[in-house]
Amino acid sequence: SLSNRLQGIFSGLRGKGRLTEDDINDAMREIRMALLEADVNFKVVKSFVARTKERCLDAEVLDSLTPAQNVVKIVLDELTELLGRTDSKLVLSSRIPNVIMLVGLQGSGKTTAAAKLAWRLKQENHAPLLVACDVYRPAAADQLETLGGEIGVRVYRGDGQDPVRIATEGVQDAIDNLRDVVIVDTAGRLHVDEAMMEEAEAIKAAVKPDQILMVVDAMTGQDVVNVAAAFAERVDFDGVIMSKMDGDARGGGALSIKEVTGKPIKFISSGEKPDSLEEFHPDRMAKRILGMGDMVSLIESAVKVQQEEIEQEQAERMMRANLNLNDFIEMNRQIRKMGGIAKLVSALPGGDKAMAAGQVDEGALDHMEVIINSMTKAERERPELLNGSRRARIAAGAGVTVPEVNQLVKKFNETKKMMKRFMPAAEEMAGGKRGK
Ligand code: GDP
Ligand code: MG
Repeated sequence: SLSNRLQGIFSGLRGKGRLTEDDINDAMREIRMALLEADVNFKVVKSFVARTKERCLDAEVLDSLTPAQNVVKIVLDELTELLGRTDSKLVLSSRIPNVIMLVGLQGSGKTTAAAKLAWRLKQENHAPLLVACDVYRPAAADQLETLGGEIGVRVYRGDGQDPVRIATEGVQDAIDNLRDVVIVDTAGRLHVDEAMMEEAEAIKAAVKPDQILMVVDAMTGQDVVNVAAAFAERVDFDGVIMSKMDGDARGGGALSIKEVTGKPIKFISSGEKPDSLEEFHPDRMAKRILGMGDMVSLIESAVKVQQEEIEQEQAERMMRANLNLNDFIEMNRQIRKMGGIAKLVSALPGGDKAMAAGQVDEGALDHMEVIINSMTKAERERPELLNGSRRARIAAGAGVTVPEVNQLVKKFNETKKMMKRFMPAAEEMAGGKRGK
């Protein structure tokens, strides 16, 4: 792999102690080969090696006490630069609904990415709508509908005939159903062609997307540059979602795209699950390529442990009387973590083994989360706001019936009562605090 090759080159340099110009030239030649073999575009390789070499041949580097380390540092720095230097988060504009349009070749992973993006937005308390504008591929809209169903996100498919009309109606559907982000999934073809570009341009003109993301299959290899350049010229786009990073991609696409198109990679997608879309961090990726281990990820897992302590605190808060629907979702997550509701219920003081026998299942937990996710922030915090018309709206948004929403609210109130009953001490504590 590219990492192995580069590590070999660096350990060769380290073994030398002092470095001469010839050593640098040899190392750069090897780096050039390694990058080309990883399918990095040859123009990109050429300018990358030229920049890196110039910096490494500096007398300060060669005469330093640790020349090899300095070379590694320079390569890391240039790789980071190549990948885009700064993190490019998804920034939504203030327009509601925000429109995000996905473009790319057929099979690049647009539909999958659309669902993952929707899932991600939902986690961030947005209410996304997926719009199915691929009217050519048989069952393309079904695919999106299935994915939407799995993550509890509404899908608009219109008449399934005219992509421009579906996109336009989709935006209206979002307004009618209080969705704040519209994700337009478009059709692709196997190769860049005029019809695809025209259609993408027409959809763009009709819905004026706040941003266009191009989905690129990491395994595309050298051709990625031509495809991206064609899209950049015709429809233009703001950033890239690099899909199938879990495959045996050699990394060439990711390393070439920013330099060739000037557009940053915003997300990398690595798998089939909805949560396998990660924000792209150029520095981490560069370190990973250089085989320097992903320190930041390590640090993040340490932070996660801390996070769990915070959750503990939240659990205590939940035991108090002021339970709201956000806590309810959080509780739901905790329950899963603890390995099922049965355990929890039987562990509760006064908990009944018969009750633990499985009245509630994972599916019901999912269902509940879908409904709560369709509520506004205020409604979650103050469930007493949930009057008839709000419940009707939530039911429509979550794709459930009003009685199902009523059932959830009822369950919530019961839980709240139960918490009060089981936790008199915690209740007292909360009361005491409130008294101060
Ligand atoms: P579209 O034609 O651009 O909409 O592409 P799809 O979203 O339908 O994806 C094409 C195929 O690639 C499907 O079989 C997906 O399951 C698969 N796929 C998409 N993204 C990923 C990914 O990140 N990793 C893996 N392993 N497969 C993916
Ligand atoms: Mg598709």
